[in-house]
Amino acid sequence: MHPEVQKMREIVLIYLDRSGGLQKFVHDCKKYNDSKQSYAVYRFIISINPSDIAELDATLGNYILHNPIQAAQIFQSVCFVAIKTLSLIEQLQTEAQISILLKPTHLPPLPSYILNLSAFPFNYTSQRFYESEGIVIAMGTITKYTQGARFLCTGETCPFSEGFRYIRVHLPGATESATVRNDFVCSLCSSPLQEDMKFRVLGDKQIVEMIDAKALNALKGYSNNKSHFRIQTFTVFLRDDLANRMTIGNHYKIIGIPACVQNGSQATVCIEVSSVQQRKPNGPTFISDNFKHLLSLTSSSCWRFTAILANIFASQVVPPGTYNTLKLTILLSLVLTCEKDNEIADYLDLLIVTSDTLIIDRLLNYSICLLPRGIRHPSSSEFFPAVSKDKHGTGSASIQACSALLAKGGICYIGDLSSYKKDKLEFLQSVLESRTTTIFIPGKKYGEEADQQVTLPVQTNFWSYVDVDASSKKHTQRASSLIGQMDLSLISPNLLDVFGLLIYNEFPSCRLSFPLVHHILKKAINPEAMLYRVSQQFRTQDYEEFILFAKNLHVELSSEAENLIQGYYLASRRVRRDAIHGSKLSASALKILISLSKAHTKLSLRKKVLEEDALIAILLLESSLTLKHGKSALCVAPNAVFPFDLSDENSLKQRDIYLMQCHHQLLKFIGAYSPGIHVNTTEE
Ligand SMILES: [Zn+2]
Repeated sequence: MHPEVQKMREIVLIYLDRSGGLQKFVHDCKKYNDSKQSYAVYRFIISINPSDIAELDATLGNYILHNPIQAAQIFQSVCFVAIKTLSLIEQLQTEAQISILLKPTHLPPLPSYILNLSAFPFNYTSQRFYESEGIVIAMGTITKYTQGARFLCTGETCPFSEGFRYIRVHLPGATESATVRNDFVCSLCSSPLQEDMKFRVLGDKQIVEMIDAKALNALKGYSNNKSHFRIQTFTVFLRDDLANRMTIGNHYKIIGIPACVQNGSQATVCIEVSSVQQRKPNGPTFISDNFKHLLSLTSSSCWRFTAILANIFASQVVPPGTYNTLKLTILLSLVLTCEKDNEIADYLDLLIVTSDTLIIDRLLNYSICLLPRGIRHPSSSEFFPAVSKDKHGTGSASIQACSALLAKGGICYIGDLSSYKKDKLEFLQSVLESRTTTIFIPGKKYGEEADQQVTLPVQTNFWSYVDVDASSKKHTQRASSLIGQMDLSLISPNLLDVFGLLIYNEFPSCRLSFPLVHHILKKAINPEAMLYRVSQQFRTQDYEEFILFAKNLHVELSSEAENLIQGYYLASRRVRRDAIHGSKLSASALKILISLSKAHTKLSLRKKVLEEDALIAILLLESSLTLKHGKSALCVAPNAVFPFDLSDENSLKQRDIYLMQCHHQLLKFIGAYSPGIHVNTTEE
């Protein structure tokens, strides 16, 4: 034996002893021994801390990181000797029966250990550990693979016609046929080998497709004509205990060994994963000094900061001061996104009624790009997960994420709502109601015995618009229309109802404002032009950071805000009622009010939801209800949140006075229609 190998074996034993690995190994052996059953393969998972082992012996550390398959063989023989010396497993006969899986706890934080999925060339031939990360875009059902098998020589007199000489185990990147096949021959007598089927060991296998996070940029709003792109995925194998450790749409960091799988004439690069870790979304970062300065300047009122924020937002697309209500709701929806799992999330879906579809589309496109997960749904594909056949030759089912799941924790912008067929819209409605989607996988079609049903959460805000001109052209005007109500007969009332907010933008195209025309013309001549000073002071990147910061704030409802919301909700349910259908206000309205209030608090960079936040939420919802059902006794102005232009300090003061009057009016409304609710009425 090579002296270096002998030395490494000794160090392996020392490492196992010191790291507690030996204790775990003895425990695992005991389980096999107690079962009294004879297996073809005894499988052990050994956790390796690369820094500890490199400190103990650099050669061995290097060997594990760069030749993991050969290094596992060293562990294999050490473990075999240990089992035999200490009589740990009575049934074990040969060293070939031991299968060792080395799992590094981490890799050295050096560039050479990172496999960048978007970089070329892609080194998949070295068969060593790499760290990589990406987003799960498709996920297969769990199928079986052969972990290990026992073969026997068919030569009757050959000593290898019994015993455990020919044991084959799965190695990273190997296909099923590499482990079990019928053309193996005996090395002693050259007779064909035959598998002893009763010893076959099966494990779980799941095939996952991932993409580099940068690939999502292709699904953002940067280009309009995107029919010609294809997203390159890479295949990841999750085996045994790792199966089901990933969720579709999530971002993961993995450690694994790249391999090249031959499937007929096609070769696919894949990664055999040895550890999976969900990548935590970036926590609160920081906000630019200009925002901080603005916050301090506006501290005298709870309404001014967000008013200015909305007023100057997206000045790259529309002039400051235009579309303020819409821009405010966009910002509210942006800060109501949450990338974390297991958190009760708030959602705010927006439906914009407009005749300026081009400008609205630009504005929404611009806004989704501010989030890491802002997805513009390509109209040719599906919103929601779909099932297809796995392309790696297994024929099993694979679930494709599609836009809604890729937009997890972000925004899914689906464009013109009226461009979709009725069945798609009905499906959208049911998903918005339940925030889940269920996929049916017929067993027969995908080689399984039983049918399967998979329910997946849909954690994203949906944005869409409807062209009001097309709506009124295609349909004859409704016979009776209430004051303030829009003619939206193109969209079913139930679908309208599931969108949190319905917004009607202020500028119909027939009378485009002068600043807007000026903006469009200037931009057409020079798309890169900075037309306003605020675009430099508050850049797109500043808003990006601001939103990331604001959305991660944890906010709490104050009892005053809660009372106001509750009072309005109950009063509103009472006044918006007809004899036949009962109240037009669904229970989801209460949820939307709370979400909106929280969003306004986050946008104000505060942590406690105040009455002032609740008032903005109520005015926005009441405007939305007015569009759907006509005016109520509360009777809000058409642009309830921004009744006039914000040109200077004085107009901000005026707006504060106006909002205080609204508050007063709201209290009277609650007092009249929801008398049981106690609200603070100490105002003048
Ligand atoms: Zn033989």
